[in-house]
Amino acid sequence: MNIILFGPPGAGKGTQAKYLVKKLNSFQVSTGDILRDEIKKNSDIGQQITNNMNEGKFVSDEIVNALIKKLIDDPQNKDKLIFDGYPRSLSQAKNLDLLLKNSDQRIDLILFLNVNKDTIIKRIEKRKILEKRSDDASNTILKRYDTYMETTKPVLDFYSKNSNFYELDGTLEIDEITAKIDTFLNV
Ligand code: AMP
Repeated sequence: MNIILFGPPGAGKGTQAKYLVKKLNSFQVSTGDILRDEIKKNSDIGQQITNNMNEGKFVSDEIVNALIKKLIDDPQNKDKLIFDGYPRSLSQAKNLDLLLKNSDQRIDLILFLNVNKDTIIKRIEKRKILEKRSDDASNTILKRYDTYMETTKPVLDFYSKNSNFYELDGTLEIDEITAKIDTFLNV
């Protein structure tokens, strides 16, 4: 089963993705985690993306799409992909469609975790203390939210027409959201 977890930064996509990975024995495709890892390793890619990440701006499609392609094309991950943080723009959504088609796969489920701005800011302020993520700085949070509203929200309109699209109240407790997700899995 290939699943997209969709929602603003701080919506709880990562938490639910980890649950789904365990439950479905699948693979979490978190572009944010992969990119942070590149920075930690101080790789060529890491050096190219540090500024954008710290400023809450997107990393280029060229870099992100190449990382995604490698994961989708890996036969070990076939029909076991849990997308968390990708796609984030209409061009990424179209790229994903194409990559999946070319590897004879499809998106089985799109879950939108809907959370309001105030809750997001409170959650990310908390995560900043717990996880010490460099892209969780206070000014970056607002920038990331604005980027979400401008560039990522249109993807929602693109996906919401699909019959396998479901909206969930992302302000609920983690366990409550997990229980709702379970009802969509049919496993
Ligand atoms: P996340 O952990 O998903 O909130 O992502 C953290 C940061 O990584 C974002 O603010 C962007 O700078 C970058 N990033 C993650 N996913 C993408 C993507 N699909 N496209 C472009 N930039 C991304």
